[in-house]
Amino acid sequence: MYKVIIGLEVHCELKTNSKNFSSAKNTYTNMPNVNVMPVDLGLPGILPVVNKEACKKALKTAMALNCETPDEIIFDRKNYYYPDLPKGYQITQVTKPFGRNGSVSFLVNGEEKTVLIHQLHLEEDTASLEHCSNYSLIDYNRSGIPLMEIVTEPCIYSADEAVRFLETLRNIFLYCEVSEAKSDKGQMRCDVNISLMKDTDTEFGTKVEMKNINAFTSVKAAIEYEIKRQSEILDKGEKVIQETRRIDEDGKTYSMREKVDAVDYKYYIEPNLAPVKLTDEIKNKVKSEIPELEYSRIKRYIDLGISVSDAETIARDKNISNYFDELIKNTNDLNTATNWLTIIILGSLNKLNISINELFITPTMLANLIEKVSNKELSSQLAKNILYEAMEKNIDPMEIIKKSNIKQISNEDELISIIKNIFDECPEQVNEYLNGNGKVANFLVGKVMQKTNKQANPGTSLKLIKEELERMK
Ligand code: ADP
Ligand code: MG
Repeated sequence: MYKVIIGLEVHCELKTNSKNFSSAKNTYTNMPNVNVMPVDLGLPGILPVVNKEACKKALKTAMALNCETPDEIIFDRKNYYYPDLPKGYQITQVTKPFGRNGSVSFLVNGEEKTVLIHQLHLEEDTASLEHCSNYSLIDYNRSGIPLMEIVTEPCIYSADEAVRFLETLRNIFLYCEVSEAKSDKGQMRCDVNISLMKDTDTEFGTKVEMKNINAFTSVKAAIEYEIKRQSEILDKGEKVIQETRRIDEDGKTYSMREKVDAVDYKYYIEPNLAPVKLTDEIKNKVKSEIPELEYSRIKRYIDLGISVSDAETIARDKNISNYFDELIKNTNDLNTATNWLTIIILGSLNKLNISINELFITPTMLANLIEKVSNKELSSQLAKNILYEAMEKNIDPMEIIKKSNIKQISNEDELISIIKNIFDECPEQVNEYLNGNGKVANFLVGKVMQKTNKQANPGTSLKLIKEELERMK
């Protein structure tokens, strides 16, 4: 058995109107080479202009990841040539990245785990290449899109932890509204570094890097495959080679290149971009725009007594969580609020294929209906039916109740007369009860509900049925 060590380098494209250093549009399109300005092509004489919105979003994310932030914004040049980098250098940050020494906490199977963030920096995406038979095509739409890179410390110890970390990170991007973070559009992608060591080893083993994995399921598959592959090498007493590998569709990883000596990128401060002071005023303003994040909400819900899995379901989406917070402000019945939201509302959103913001039923409408159940004015079954009808027809549940004159029958005299009629209709079941089968009482409650269009109070009905039958014994 070996100890698994994983470190991730996550890239995330920021959502902005224009690119990081040019005025070309930052929008996703299938039409190649339409969002391109001279800066993105690296033409001679170009001068970059820094995108304020991109800086704000990178700073906001760094703060959401509990990072230390710099006193000024500085960019650096990383010099190398590749066909997807027409300038011959990438503008990035090494001197003063937007974030250092951060941390992210989350639950893995109900237990708290904290991943340390080494740094977060802002850079520009490269163009994208499509390799054909004996030529390659270049699409410059991606060239210069603001790209955040988040590098973790080597402190992740399993595929599950890695995936939960990535899910948490994506939700931070979505909660902070800095990116749409869609893996299938390459807006969020990561490099996975992994090595194995014996429990008794004092130094990390040789790491292998797997580049540009988009889907979280592929991250999991790549890690699991590498654990198996590296274990087999070490079991044989052989050495793992330091190399870059890629994951293929078969879920296996294949060697791309062995790691040569570290490339010298001849970094220096980007001379065409003047430093910008980051005052406390700016930092406080950006910080105030960070909403309460997913993990804090999960903990708050668990403290209220909600199950871990329900807390996770509700907090996964900011809008759903906001809806739930509004709902529980207006009702004391936490249990019903949780069940109806996670089962009825989320189920219906799925079926109707709409977001919670498009739902006609407001949290107040839902809370009013739940209150009617808590006050025993309505049976839970009846209220649920009203809710389904309200969602289908886009009507306030209270309107349905008013219009159809629905109310719960709790009046005992009224109920007893209904119950006596049912005893006459079901002599067999009455006899069964008298002969000792107590369960038949529930069948009789069902009959009462049927007869009253579900308006009878089921609790009171059961009580009265038992009392009447006991008297007949
Ligand atoms: P490099 O110099 O090869 O780029 P870095 O030290 O910059 O390596 O780390 C790059 C990434 O690799 C980080 O996410 C880090 O956590 C991870 N990493 C570093 N060493 C190891 C290791 N032995 N096993 C697994 N991951 C590692
Ligand atoms: Mg590195």
